[in-house]
Amino acid sequence: MLQFINPLLQKALQSISPCQLCNAEQQQIHSVCADCWQQLPWLKSTVQRQEMDIQSACHYDYPIDRIIQKFKYEQQLHFQQILAGAFMQLRLPKVQAIVPMPISNQRLAERGYNQSLVLGKILAKQLDLPIWQPITRLQQHSQKGLTRLERIENIQQQFQINTTSKLRYRRVLILDDVVTTGSSIFALKQKLEQLGCQKVYAACIASAAI
Ligand SMILES: [Zn+2]
Repeated sequence: MLQFINPLLQKALQSISPCQLCNAEQQQIHSVCADCWQQLPWLKSTVQRQEMDIQSACHYDYPIDRIIQKFKYEQQLHFQQILAGAFMQLRLPKVQAIVPMPISNQRLAERGYNQSLVLGKILAKQLDLPIWQPITRLQQHSQKGLTRLERIENIQQQFQINTTSKLRYRRVLILDDVVTTGSSIFALKQKLEQLGCQKVYAACIASAAI
């Protein structure tokens, strides 16, 4: 019963709540007004990083950059609707599971949540897919003073297979919030391939120019 009421209640609340971005208009779509939604720095295309095609909903520009920062570093979790909504604008491939970009336990302790997992769960529910987290991420060491190759190795060493389960998915979608060089997605993809994934897709909310 609760499951039935919640969406209705949500809709009712939405129709009387102000837009989360401009605070002036009423919420119309994913917690923001139609104007604010339209004015996001949309990309809705793929970017190439590390010889991979990564789907990207937006350019990493204002105001999505600020929204992501507030969502990630300032515990402003109410932005999850607009961010998950941005993901849903992508033509996501047919996959068997969603793999949110892992963060280290240290980051998790600082932040209290993995931002990609929060968004992944919304998406997983909408797409009726499982979340799969067979890879953990170790704490990142400083990248200062490293060559490009050393940096890539450093990132690859952060990702570790953590599953002893025989459960495998062949086609998966990696979700990340922001993509810059794409090296963490690349490292995660390699680990997933070691686990037997045959097709590893990736999508992000926003991509920054390198
Ligand atoms: Zn607005």
